[in-house]
Amino acid sequence: MDLTRYVNTFGKAMRRKHGCKVHKVSINAAFTCPNRDATKGIGGCTFCNNASFNVNAQNAPTIDQQLCEGKAVVGRKKNASKFIAYFQAYTSTYGDVALLEQRYEQALRTPDVVGLSIGTRPDCVPDEVLRLLARYQEQGHEVWLELGLQSANDEVLRQVNRGHDVACYKDAIKRAKSFGLQVCTHLIVGLPGETPEASVDAAAMTTDHNSDGLKIHPLHVVKGTQMARQLKQGGIPSLSQEQYVDVVTRIIRQAPDEQTFHRLTGTANEQLLLAPQWCQRKWSVLNAIYHRLAACPAT
Ligand code: SF4
Repeated sequence: MDLTRYVNTFGKAMRRKHGCKVHKVSINAAFTCPNRDATKGIGGCTFCNNASFNVNAQNAPTIDQQLCEGKAVVGRKKNASKFIAYFQAYTSTYGDVALLEQRYEQALRTPDVVGLSIGTRPDCVPDEVLRLLARYQEQGHEVWLELGLQSANDEVLRQVNRGHDVACYKDAIKRAKSFGLQVCTHLIVGLPGETPEASVDAAAMTTDHNSDGLKIHPLHVVKGTQMARQLKQGGIPSLSQEQYVDVVTRIIRQAPDEQTFHRLTGTANEQLLLAPQWCQRKWSVLNAIYHRLAACPAT
């Protein structure tokens, strides 16, 4: 299976640009989140338990240590020779610019790190942060701003306690593009109240707003979240693997050739995952996407 035959994956785009295999290394730079500390909201998004998606940060307190450990693991498993420091946990633009600068530059000084991918919320990207990231890009670093949108439906965003709306995303991406930044938009497929058609339309909307990349994964309900309680009460409709594969292949088919897919599926730590169980079988999901695309690569 070679998904790059049909999909402009992040790996494919990076190899073309840098001439070697470049892989993200996930780090936790000890930021917090305005949707948890009462600045924007309390309790966080109903699906959020940061421990479920950030495995490298558990026992490695400094950015250098995390990158060194991550590089060793990812380099060995993925045969990568260059790396992008992926500030994934919480809201990685949430802090004083001087502090952000210190943490980002610590990552950029690490050998073989060619750039940054900064995960954040659309309501947490003031111009001064965008200017800082644009400066790194002008210096030749690979820089991606990853904006968590999750859904393009304001009611769905409200239901999951996201604390921002779609207009906020549109404003953030417009400003990021005005600084010349590469933007990846993060969407979750299967949020309560979201139809498959709405997920496909959400992806099209991000393209219309010049998002350069997409990161997509199915909703996974994990322990320690508000959604885990809703699941127990029967309040979370289940998404089948087949439905998910259908949505993702439609998103891929409608995307322009240059759009970069940073992720096509995802799962959570198996100790934390409650549902759906199929998302643990990442290769089975990717295989199904591949075979759907192979059967009919274009619309
Ligand atoms: S998903 Fe992101 S924005 Fe939402 S509570 Fe978690 S860290 Fe904050």
